[in-house]
Amino acid sequence: MGILSVRNVNKRFGGLKALDDVNLEVEAGTVHAIIGPNGAGKSTLLNCFVGRLEPDSGSVTFDGMSLLGIKPHEINQAGVSRVFQTPEIFGDLTLIENVMIPAFAARDGAFTLNAWGLVTTHGEIRARALAMLTDVGLADQAERPAGQLSRGDKRRLELAICLVQNPKLLLLDEPTAGMARADTNNAIELMKRIAGRGVTMVVIEHDMHVVFSLAEKITVLAQGAVIAEDKPEKIKGNHRVQEAYLGGAQL
Ligand code: ADP
Ligand code: MG
Repeated sequence: MGILSVRNVNKRFGGLKALDDVNLEVEAGTVHAIIGPNGAGKSTLLNCFVGRLEPDSGSVTFDGMSLLGIKPHEINQAGVSRVFQTPEIFGDLTLIENVMIPAFAARDGAFTLNAWGLVTTHGEIRARALAMLTDVGLADQAERPAGQLSRGDKRRLELAICLVQNPKLLLLDEPTAGMARADTNNAIELMKRIAGRGVTMVVIEHDMHVVFSLAEKITVLAQGAVIAEDKPEKIKGNHRVQEAYLGGAQL
């Protein structure tokens, strides 16, 4: 059983079966990609991991704990962080303020207690937030309003917001969408670094260059159903996968 275990998950929107008996095991410490044509159900599936949607049936467990029927912040406290398809940041606040907010609320007490058991100071939180911004290459823009950032930089800010919470599982929904190639390559390097620290990652991604650079395992969704799950080199040659991407696909 993986650290994230998805069993027989179904989700309907009216007459549409958005998820059709989905099974998925994500091994701890790996990068697992979910790919599939537009409308395949990828975001819907991720929404079922973070309390945004409740499946009609099936189970989702993380580290042995059910993620269903609990609040998004409880899922977050369990160590699951998500970068949304559309960046969710506070545009009027500065970058560092955006990262400090979740640092104050961090799950395991590591930032609310320091080595002497004292409540962490504002300065310590700030230092930690700045370290995260440095990590994603945004430290020099720390005092700018977040709303002024380019799209690629907003995604990096979102990553910093996730990382400050010390996630065990990071969920990324199209992290490189709309990025130019140079930004995409930077994002790949950043995600590799995060994965290198042992954070388990689930990445939904359109860009096959990103998928094949990062993923150790790939699950392919089409019309809500898993049609393949394998190592990247095997997925490339999979007939069903090529068929699912109309027009002979960019695999
Ligand atoms: P993907 O992320 O793979 O592109 P989605 O998970 O966003 O696909 O959507 C899967 C299908 O479910 C699509 O047909 C989409 O239109 C539909 N869908 C997604 N969310 C909703 C919703 N809240 N209400 C109704 N239909 C939805
Ligand atoms: Mg989507």
